[in-house]
Amino acid sequence: MLSSSWNMLLGRKHDRSGFCGSKEIIKPCEASDVSCHVSYTLKKEEVLNSVMADQGFLKPKRGFATTAVHSGKDPEKWSGAVVPPIVTSTVYKRTVHNHTGYVYGRSANPTRSALEDCLAKLDGGTDAITFASGLAATTTIASLVSKGDHIISSDDLYGGTSRLFRDIIGRLGVEVSFADCTSSENLAKAIQKNTKMVWIETPTNPILRVLDIADISKVIKSFGDILLVVDNTFLTPYLQRPLDFGADIAMYSMSKYMNGHSDIVMGAAVVKDEELGKKLHFLQKAMGAVPSPIDCYLVSRSLKTLPLRMEQHKKSSMVIAQWLQKHPKVTEVLHPGLPNHPQHEICKRQTSGHSGVFSFKHCGGIKESEAILHAFKVFTLAESLGGFESLAQLPALMTHASVPEEQRLKLGISDELIRISIGLEDIDDLLEDLEQAFNVAFP
Ligand SMILES: *Cc1c(COP(=O)(O)O)cnc(C)c1O
Repeated sequence: MLSSSWNMLLGRKHDRSGFCGSKEIIKPCEASDVSCHVSYTLKKEEVLNSVMADQGFLKPKRGFATTAVHSGKDPEKWSGAVVPPIVTSTVYKRTVHNHTGYVYGRSANPTRSALEDCLAKLDGGTDAITFASGLAATTTIASLVSKGDHIISSDDLYGGTSRLFRDIIGRLGVEVSFADCTSSENLAKAIQKNTKMVWIETPTNPILRVLDIADISKVIKSFGDILLVVDNTFLTPYLQRPLDFGADIAMYSMSKYMNGHSDIVMGAAVVKDEELGKKLHFLQKAMGAVPSPIDCYLVSRSLKTLPLRMEQHKKSSMVIAQWLQKHPKVTEVLHPGLPNHPQHEICKRQTSGHSGVFSFKHCGGIKESEAILHAFKVFTLAESLGGFESLAQLPALMTHASVPEEQRLKLGISDELIRISIGLEDIDDLLEDLEQAFNVAFP
């Protein structure tokens, strides 16, 4: 059945009262019957086309939701409890020669293991290793390489990752270079004898370019034993499973969609090679950037609704991206789910659709960007993404302020580029908010 937002886009009178407990069958009305507050309403055919545009992607993995609900539980182990308890003990009784697998709170914790078990299965991996933050995951993964080794990073990525690579990892004697990885020829040129790791993010942030994971894996593996790490924070394993396409490590900031409730900072790495899993568990213990058992419990709880949340983020962001595309003040919408996105075909091959984060450009400048962002009433002007609430921000002055200006301009991170993260509110309310904000900025 059509949702109220769809009906609004289809031109139906905006009336919520009829939906409450009513069995009435909702028919899309004539296009002339438009009385809602959103003036750039799409026409019916266009919306139907948009539904078509959502097809052609990979089907979400069969059994994913069941895995999200059941993995990591082990009622027999916990007196029948279907929710694994929060084990706070840092100390575990043992004999001189034997232990249960749990020795000390930093090296392993049963609540953390339950979460790691579920994460490994969601990505089709053999092992998952969790960390105190996404950047703690990145720092630990980068410690797989040694002084004198070389890491290639894609040039358009999370500002904090870029800062870590430029200002810290580089200082420790690891060579880091940045390359445009949308072209595998370009990437191949950047590979050196000492290259040990390639770090990519797809889609990229905040320009939303899509990189072909399978192609990149093929290219770098032809040069030898180079690890491919994919930061999959923007899509989660529900929409993209990097290990299926030849990545060695799927990395996450769990602080975003994976937890989805904007109340936890955590990171994770998922691998499909047991040796690599062991190395990362060793580094997790040896470097010590581990998450707390309470946070692990909360993230396990959040994962139960991951498929539901991602489906809604995907749908809402698609409708809003199309609405923006029609807006007279919008010059460009950077959303991989749109058929005119330059890498839309790759996106269809390797994802089950796009999440709620995307960017757009308008025809104004910095003044209009600020006016739009400050006028929002439902969207919150804030960094971060992937939570239940809609957020908007200005990458040039906020999340990507630490990227050197020359690089920012080369990537197109300009003053009129706004990044949004579509939350789980009613689509109608988000469209109305966008419209009034544009009206304030462009009187
Ligand atoms: C937030 C984010 C990170 C960093 O994660 P933290 O949990 O904030 O440390 C890394 N990559 C991407 C794509 C992110 O959005």
